[in-house]
Amino acid sequence: MPETRPTNWARNITFSAPEVHRPTSPDALRALVAKSPHIRVLGSGHSFNRIADVDADRDGVLVSLGGLPATIDIDPAAGTVRVGGGVRYAELAAALHARGLALHNMASLPHISVAGSVATGTHGSGNANRSLAEAVRAVEILTGGGETVTLARGDEGFEGAVVSLGALGVVLSLTLDVEPDYEVSQRVLRELPFQGLDFAAVTSSAYSVSLFTTWQGPHFDQVWVKQRHPLPVDFPWAEPATDKQHPVPGMPAVNCTEQFGVPGPWHERLPHFRAEFTPSSGDELQSEYLLPREHAQDALAALDAVRDEIAAVLQVCEVRTVAADTQWLSPSYGRDTVAFHFTWVADTARVLPVVSLVEDRLRAFGPRPHWGKVFTAAPDQVVARYPRAAEFAALARRLDPEGKFANTFVRALLDR
Ligand SMILES: Cc1cc2nc3c(=O)[nH]c(=O)nc-3n(C[C@H](O)[C@H](O)[C@H](O)COP(=O)(O)OP(=O)(O)OC[C@H]3O[C@@H](n4cnc5c(N)ncnc54)[C@H](O)[C@@H]3O)c2cc1C
Repeated sequence: MPETRPTNWARNITFSAPEVHRPTSPDALRALVAKSPHIRVLGSGHSFNRIADVDADRDGVLVSLGGLPATIDIDPAAGTVRVGGGVRYAELAAALHARGLALHNMASLPHISVAGSVATGTHGSGNANRSLAEAVRAVEILTGGGETVTLARGDEGFEGAVVSLGALGVVLSLTLDVEPDYEVSQRVLRELPFQGLDFAAVTSSAYSVSLFTTWQGPHFDQVWVKQRHPLPVDFPWAEPATDKQHPVPGMPAVNCTEQFGVPGPWHERLPHFRAEFTPSSGDELQSEYLLPREHAQDALAALDAVRDEIAAVLQVCEVRTVAADTQWLSPSYGRDTVAFHFTWVADTARVLPVVSLVEDRLRAFGPRPHWGKVFTAAPDQVVARYPRAAEFAALARRLDPEGKFANTFVRALLDR
């Protein structure tokens, strides 16, 4: 029999459930949750580990909200939008732009679901830009007991309910802050040496800065600078690229958003990749470590010392910054952050030893792995880096006392 079980986007994870349920009405979703002893929600499946999976030995049910009406309720007077639990950033951004509104930031791709992204602490870049979860003003959760619980900013437990790892219940909707529409211009520059690098100056030169290296040498190969129009950019440290770039060597630049400083809508510049094309390389694994920003240059030097081992299994590495936020399980909780992201080749056996090597090199800096990417650090080490983890575990016990939404990934972290 051919393998027909569903997989994640990268196809490195085959889920333990035989199928993904796609209820087409809220009532059907409620009935499914009510009758299932163990259930997990799958977003757009862009995570690279078993965070979204069910436990095979508990006969778990995997459910997608992609078949439900894609609610996008905009309230310009309140400065908010309420989005359904299955909506993707691409649809949301287009709807907001059409009403003259915007989000504060986006990840590198618009293909991902809003609920799945904020559940893992997904972020873009920018010294003053906080994670996407920080835009959430309220979250509406269907619990395993069939109750609908809404937690809003200011409510007890709210800061635990957004970056939830899918462990609290089904996120039916999220209410997000919006702001007036704005334009962004994007420029790509080439060859920024590590030597003499003033990391703080480089990353504060624009609204969002991404530094890419293949670790083939002690330099960044590309710098992506995104600035809110019409603010100027002063970037004296590297030369502008003369042709359009893709961050992954060999991939077609047509997949990427407009460059050369041409101003355009925020949602067509803040992501690196265009919604209608494959993002990144499509054949890959990813890891990412978020650490206090003051360690950026020391961490870069620590990784440079094992540059050859990294380069051997790497497609590209991206270094970004994220502002401190308040969500208990956000990898940028409480600390202005530098994030070291790795797009690896799609070969788990060769990549995992290098992931461990990267973790060894970064350990002294207190790295928090991205919840949705590949990491090898022991769960107790990871949890120790989250001062509010015990409060999150208590919230999970309160909202999901039977552990209907707890899978192996979550239990290893939360001891539940
Ligand atoms: C090409 C590529 C580029 C990426 N770029 C970035 C980037 O720029 N920045 C970054 O930080 N990350 C990035 N990521 C990682 C990605 O943002 C995260 O893995 C994110 O969680 C993916 O969202 P998803 O909807 O696919 O979630 P899934 O992987 O489907 O699920 C993630 C978690 O969310 C839960 N979940 C999803 N929907 C719901 C719901 N309605 N209710 C309850 N729980 C729910 C799931 O149970 C699971 O625990 C990238 C990934 C890829 C593949």
